[in-house]
Amino acid sequence: MGNMRRFLRQKAIFILGSVLIMSTTVKTQALTGQKNSVTIYLTFDDGPLHCSWHLLSLIRTNSFPVNVFLVGQQVYHSQEGKDILQSYRDNPLVEIDNHSFCHAHRKYKAFYRHPKEVIEDMLLNEDTLQLTNKIIRLPGRNVWRINGRKRNDLAHAKRAADSLASRGYRIFGWDLEWRYDSTTQSFYSATRMIRWIRQLVESGKTFLPQQIVILCHDPMLQNEYERSQLRLFAGKIKMETDWHLGHLIDYPEN
Ligand SMILES: [Zn+2]
Repeated sequence: MGNMRRFLRQKAIFILGSVLIMSTTVKTQALTGQKNSVTIYLTFDDGPLHCSWHLLSLIRTNSFPVNVFLVGQQVYHSQEGKDILQSYRDNPLVEIDNHSFCHAHRKYKAFYRHPKEVIEDMLLNEDTLQLTNKIIRLPGRNVWRINGRKRNDLAHAKRAADSLASRGYRIFGWDLEWRYDSTTQSFYSATRMIRWIRQLVESGKTFLPQQIVILCHDPMLQNEYERSQLRLFAGKIKMETDWHLGHLIDYPEN
């Protein structure tokens, strides 16, 4: 009887030990996963434009998520704008966000001199596009306001940004831009973008660590080479362990 009790006690200790080891292993894996996990957000500004159909087609065929920061004036400028908006709404891979109604009429300094009008313009866009999220990007400015953290490029959009943040809006700038290279006369290649992301992750110079917001514009998809690069880029991200593409609605608070 004594032997049996000792055997059961040893067995219980063994099982408890195994459970502890297992739970430690799982926890370590989860933490490692978090530590190495990089989320990349492809954001397309200033649409809709005629070339936005290319974006829609690429998303449908290759199945990757994007955020589109739309300008209301562009939507209601033509029937095509409204049709593109509808196609965006019908596609769960597209998240629609607010990039102002008038895009500052491309006169940024004058626009930001009147923060009240900036807010009115952002609210007008939210209303006309019937947006339900509180995600915005200010026209012509790389300004951030997320959960009390701030970043400004130039000072003059500060007051408007602070006021919008106090109303519960999350303002997104960008960590890197999918640029046009005048020497090669084309937009950056997928390989170059991946290399740049790797450097950014290592340097930690993003707004939040491991979170990479990329600024793109629809006209970069006007020719087949650039479209192939975006397709390749999305494919390369999917191949990378711990890297994935996401929507800004899931961007962490801190
Ligand atoms: Zn813009």
